[in-house]
Amino acid sequence: MTENVVVLGSGYAGAGAIQSLEAELGREADITWISDVDYHLVLHEAHRCISDPSVKEQITVPVEDIKSPATRFIHGEVVGVDCADRTVSLADGSTVSYDYLLVGIGSRTAFFGIEGLREHALTLKSLDDVLDVHEAVRDAAREASRDDPARVVVGGAGLSGIQTAGEVAEFRDERRAPLEIHLVEGLDEIFPGNDPELQGALRKRLEARDVNIMTGEFVGEVDADRVYVGDDRELEYDVLVWTGGITGRDCVTGMDVRKDERNHRLNAEATFRTSDERVFAIGDCALIDQPGDQPAPPTAQAAWDAAEHAGKNIVRAIRGQPLERWTHKDKGTVISVGEDAVAHDVLMIPISTFGGPVAHLLKKGIAARWLADVDGVDRAIRAWPQM
Ligand SMILES: Cc1cc2nc3c(=O)[nH]c(=O)nc-3n(C[C@H](O)[C@H](O)[C@H](O)COP(=O)(O)OP(=O)(O)OC[C@H]3O[C@@H](n4cnc5c(N)ncnc54)[C@H](O)[C@@H]3O)c2cc1C
Repeated sequence: MTENVVVLGSGYAGAGAIQSLEAELGREADITWISDVDYHLVLHEAHRCISDPSVKEQITVPVEDIKSPATRFIHGEVVGVDCADRTVSLADGSTVSYDYLLVGIGSRTAFFGIEGLREHALTLKSLDDVLDVHEAVRDAAREASRDDPARVVVGGAGLSGIQTAGEVAEFRDERRAPLEIHLVEGLDEIFPGNDPELQGALRKRLEARDVNIMTGEFVGEVDADRVYVGDDRELEYDVLVWTGGITGRDCVTGMDVRKDERNHRLNAEATFRTSDERVFAIGDCALIDQPGDQPAPPTAQAAWDAAEHAGKNIVRAIRGQPLERWTHKDKGTVISVGEDAVAHDVLMIPISTFGGPVAHLLKKGIAARWLADVDGVDRAIRAWPQM
């Protein structure tokens, strides 16, 4: 019997799983790939578009260049999944049946119920989002002057917030634009929960780029002109970008599988199987069991690695073989601050934390490697100058 395997999402999780499934599956299954965009976005480099929107050509890879001709692609928005009927519902009213489903639809921005935030903040989850940030920063700079600079406030100092603030600084310095940049983090240090040496190295570079860092107090409210921080601080803004956290996508809230009650991310075993034996989940939309008490991190690195293993496990499930457990192995962190970068605990490099040209080259190399894996070396070579 031919099984129907359906993959949702064309991010790291979805694109990686398609490649793994195509490599492993014979004629025993048909593959259908569904995403609301018809390209793979290299989201972990998307902030580059803030300073240079033409980078979008390099960080979007058409799905047709990734999948094999035998895989059916449906360009559509998933609005629900019925696990009892084994169907996926799309926004155009159609449904797609599956025997095995892999959910890889990423996450959306969490606003934590902060008053005014959802209405007034820009977010960074799609290509349109980053292009909107570029336009907002450009327009604010045009209307500002040296005496009265425009103010960009970035809320949340994780991977995306730090790299966004660094990229706005790049925009400002390349164009000598009259901009003030503030990075606001509620916890006590930027890049919370990470190594203090790395936090210090990032802080040093952000401050060298004239990014004002405010830590230790949470954003409590936002209106059309101001961000209210802690009990008694307020920041006027022209552009507000919020990167303060992630939560699950709305389309999975009604799915009958075990999930986190508050953020709707799907619970998955280390085999990627959810509480429904026909449904697997990876990437930012999933909370994948790992040794210890923390799930796998919501990073591109983890999603891509998981995707390869998830594809193999779906093939094992189809063949009635035991599934293999996956453990995330951190290969290190490389974070850009504009054209500069900081690398930390990178495999096979003996220095724990460093910046400068080598870190910058590593960051470029990671993006190029990604593109080479997804679409071949030619694409990586074409993209190299703009990475
Ligand atoms: C600015 C920024 C910088 C980052 N930097 C790094 C970094 O340096 N290193 C790192 O490891 N990670 C980084 N990350 C995190 C990383 O990008 C995510 O962890 C990663 O994208 C997760 O992969 P994913 O496939 O689960 O989700 P995504 O890449 O978000 O892909 C989700 C896919 O699902 C599609 N989709 C969503 N909803 C629907 C729907 N309803 N119907 C159909 N399709 C849908 C989307 O269009 C997309 O194709 C960064 C993130 C940002 C925003």
